[in-house]
Amino acid sequence: MSDAKQELRELVVISGKGGTGKTSLVAAFAALAQNTVFCDLDVDVPDLHIILRPKPRISSPFMGGNKARVRSADCIRCGQCKDVCRFDAVRDKGTGYEVDEALCEGCGVCVALCPEKAMDFPEARCGEWHISQTRFGPMLHAALAPGQENSGRLVSLLKKEARDLAKKEGYTTILCDGSPGIGCPVISSLAGATVAVIVTEPSLSGRHDLERVAGVCRHFRLPFGLVINRWDLNPEGSAALEAFCRDSGITVFGRIPFDADMLRATAQSLAATELHTQLRDTIVQLWQNICHFRPATSVTLRPYIPAAPLLPDIITSSL
Ligand code: SF4
Ligand code: SF4
Repeated sequence: MSDAKQELRELVVISGKGGTGKTSLVAAFAALAQNTVFCDLDVDVPDLHIILRPKPRISSPFMGGNKARVRSADCIRCGQCKDVCRFDAVRDKGTGYEVDEALCEGCGVCVALCPEKAMDFPEARCGEWHISQTRFGPMLHAALAPGQENSGRLVSLLKKEARDLAKKEGYTTILCDGSPGIGCPVISSLAGATVAVIVTEPSLSGRHDLERVAGVCRHFRLPFGLVINRWDLNPEGSAALEAFCRDSGITVFGRIPFDADMLRATAQSLAATELHTQLRDTIVQLWQNICHFRPATSVTLRPYIPAAPLLPDIITSSL
């Protein structure tokens, strides 16, 4: 840990969709990062723990949203709660009414309209989050319970806890594995970040996803750059992506070839950079490019202009 007072840098690795190799890359960066707190913000499908193998230090419940509950002692069995629930979450058991928590969306309508005020509306446990220790540094991670929502709120909670931990223990960087897509959890992932690293593939869908997620970054005026993963599976597509980035003022941090060593490392729950391979050298260079990235204001504040129509003769294949 550093004694010097430094500004906290927050790097968030995202992708327009799942399956781009984002998490493997975050793990590979984790093995190289110094003085860093790691954060798995992909709370709907967390998997960074598979490689970082965290050992929990502190575990806490995540309370998100509310669930209605009938107090049978006060209930006069009028059935109004069942009538007003649009999610069919209230059941008539014959002997009284009860709410099925799995179906309750927590809208609160039944609670507000119950004539006897015979319903409680407690916060519900939607998952768990942890502060853990890995061989590379501390890690924050969480998992939503099946069917639970509020992942954006959980992401915000993890980020806040990561910042608090970093400030308290003197870490200078937070490296986050962000959620895929462009929905609420991604926006929560990007809030307050220093730099976004977008991972994509040289395919038609990869380019579409890049445009969408770059649009989100630009909307929030967040500096970002691109990593092209498995570039050699479609060299023409990679060249087209790089040309697109050049024309759009998007920094390309680097590109990574398809390499069986990445799979070999993952199969052993290791970061790719823990193996002494050529792939490691490529990722080290990529990590340095990201660490030294200092965006020009004109790039980060540039308005988003939708891309020109795709050129099917340049980007031809989906991986
Ligand atoms: S609305 Fe209230 S009083 Fe009526 S059945 Fe439901 S809980 Fe009972
Ligand atoms: S809180 Fe909303 S979803 Fe839940 S039982 Fe009441 S009306 Fe139905």
